[in-house]
Amino acid sequence: MTMSQRKSALATIAARPSEAPVNEGLDVSSIYGQNVYSLKTMREDLPKSVYKKLVATIQKGEPIASDIACEVANAMKRWAISKGATHFTHWFQPLTGATAEKHDSFIEPDHQGGVILEFKGGNLVQGEPDASSFPNGGLRATFEARGYTAWDPTSPAFIKESKTGSTLCIPTVFCSYTGESLDKKTPLMRSLQALSTQAKRVLSCFGEDSEGSISVSVGLEQEYFLVDKALFMSRPDLAQCGRTLFGAASAKHQQMDDHYFGAIRPRIIGFMEEVDKELWKLGIPSKTRHNEVAPAQFEIAPVFESCNWAVDQNMMTMEVLRTVADRHDLVCLTHEKPFAGINGSGKHNNWSIVSPSGKNLLDPGTNPHDNARFLTVLCAIIKAVNEYQGLLRMCVASAGNDHRLGANEAPPAIISIFLGDQLHDIIEQLEQGGATSSKSAASMHVGVDALPTFPKDTTDRNRTSPFAFTGNKFEFRAVGSNQSAAGPNTVLNTIVASALDEIATVLEGATEENFNQVLQDLLQKIVKENKQILFNGDGYTDEWKKEAVEQRGLLNLVTSPEAYEVLKKPEYIDVFNKYSVLSPAELECRYEVHTEVYAQIIEIEAQMTYEMAKTMILPAALSQVETLASNLTSLKGLGITAGTATLTASLEKVGGLVDALGSAIADLEPLVGSHDTPVVIAKMNAVRDAADAIEIEVADDKWPLAKYSELLFQY
Ligand code: ADP
Ligand code: MG
Repeated sequence: MTMSQRKSALATIAARPSEAPVNEGLDVSSIYGQNVYSLKTMREDLPKSVYKKLVATIQKGEPIASDIACEVANAMKRWAISKGATHFTHWFQPLTGATAEKHDSFIEPDHQGGVILEFKGGNLVQGEPDASSFPNGGLRATFEARGYTAWDPTSPAFIKESKTGSTLCIPTVFCSYTGESLDKKTPLMRSLQALSTQAKRVLSCFGEDSEGSISVSVGLEQEYFLVDKALFMSRPDLAQCGRTLFGAASAKHQQMDDHYFGAIRPRIIGFMEEVDKELWKLGIPSKTRHNEVAPAQFEIAPVFESCNWAVDQNMMTMEVLRTVADRHDLVCLTHEKPFAGINGSGKHNNWSIVSPSGKNLLDPGTNPHDNARFLTVLCAIIKAVNEYQGLLRMCVASAGNDHRLGANEAPPAIISIFLGDQLHDIIEQLEQGGATSSKSAASMHVGVDALPTFPKDTTDRNRTSPFAFTGNKFEFRAVGSNQSAAGPNTVLNTIVASALDEIATVLEGATEENFNQVLQDLLQKIVKENKQILFNGDGYTDEWKKEAVEQRGLLNLVTSPEAYEVLKKPEYIDVFNKYSVLSPAELECRYEVHTEVYAQIIEIEAQMTYEMAKTMILPAALSQVETLASNLTSLKGLGITAGTATLTASLEKVGGLVDALGSAIADLEPLVGSHDTPVVIAKMNAVRDAADAIEIEVADDKWPLAKYSELLFQY
């Protein structure tokens, strides 16, 4: 009998030698940032005047002059070549949600049999990839299929190393011939600008005028799974869909909570060390690593960075996780729910707003003036999240995240805000603020009263909230592990810009004398109108779902298709349009792409479910039936009765399960490719249920797919 892929994978794993530690040591500061063309490198590399103009471009968003571009390109080329680069690429983020690159070498033939290495200002500033195959949601006719990439100097160029060479990667935006955005980065950058403009207006109402722009800090905690590559090879579902479409629960999974923060296995720590090293070389400040709740699940988090760069760094982090895993005979799964029945993976988006002078506007201050500003920004966020809760839900919607949101390990699909008891109490006081009755003892006078100092590490951390205040930042926890963080941050920046705009408009009408009163009244009104979004309780419970929807009127958009529909709402179209983040046509394009990608994923999963059930699982089950039947026939032929009762019972049981699987497969078959996705999903689930029931009845050596007990524990 030939060994199944699964059994030979297990043999491979068992035979792998365990390696003793080799502590070569690592001088972190000498490698840190060596592969990124950072401001520091540029300051050393560029003439002073060029450097100054470039910094002005980066910090103030001024357009880049062509002579500056040429100088920068030249210096960048020298630097890249010194790092062994032979090629450059514009590195962009089309609406696929992944990154894209098309390499060109620096070589230019000198027509005398040799080459010179060239990289012109034009090569740096603009590219024209043949982009006809990127999703465009109807924005581009095929006869105008050209797309343009344009340098984003706010995210530094970097070197991607491969086995025998390296490539200079230049972060760029990607747009159509007619200038419409076809990527995730352009709207993100526009939203940052909108937020800066509106937040500056509010700051100036507080007498805080200053040069420069407001920035956003983002820290992205990334969860992922690791499985052994040999076992992965026996799972076409993992290879095609990134998640297991089949698999009975293993006896032990996460019920003992012994993986969370557990000692990290030597093989995994070796992987993590190499990941950190690669990230540090890229100037990505990887900081935290640990085992997560589910077996074989881990987390990595960097120190926060400026929003645009943080989003790019996260895309590179996912890539580094995948490539380094491969070197360790592991496969990194970034899907939101690779395994049924245990925790899925998210990407916690920690977000705060920073003033031009570097003050975190979500840091409650130590004096009444700072407190007033803090409460104003806080109320803007409360208002934004409540009014645009549908958009926040929409921006984390994906076929993968549908398995996670609302499952009892992840925030529900209902958006709400957790403030913690102390801050919640202050907000309640604010609501009663100005009251002249005896209750006024509990009322908050903005600009007069000082807030208590909150402990930064609030002990009452609520892990069940999708949007939680954590000391000096908000943490948006509903983001999916596999998605680009660009979308969620674009939405957050835009809706908060809108709320700040409304606040600024009121405050600009106040006089010096009545400013505190106007502010007090405004914040009180905002709290009154939006407090239904505030929820400190357990977001996982059914009671909350009921209360949220029935009493508070909050949205509960359970599936992605429902969530995408909010993009048709006029007030949502308006907010993107008003702040020039996405035009109605650009937004329509996102709607088209989201719904199409969703349908394609379900179609691929349905096709894979059908194929695997029919060609792998059913044959294994039938082989079990055959073995049982022939054993039974033999016994009967020998006139032996012992054993026949067990065989008969097994045969009936497995036979019944085979029939159930057969009919579930037959039900699914005509629906593969159907756009009636809820029905397709129900039929896929029925096939899975039947197959998983068979898994624990079929002889182990006949089972073709790596089991959960192996995938989750043999690494
Ligand atoms: P956890 O939430 O797991 O306890 P931390 O609170 O330490 O972890 O930080 C999580 C992430 O939030 C990290 O990436 C961290 O750098 C980032 N972070 C910390 N402060 C801020 C801030 N003011 N703005 C944005 N991100 C922040
Ligand atoms: Mg966190």
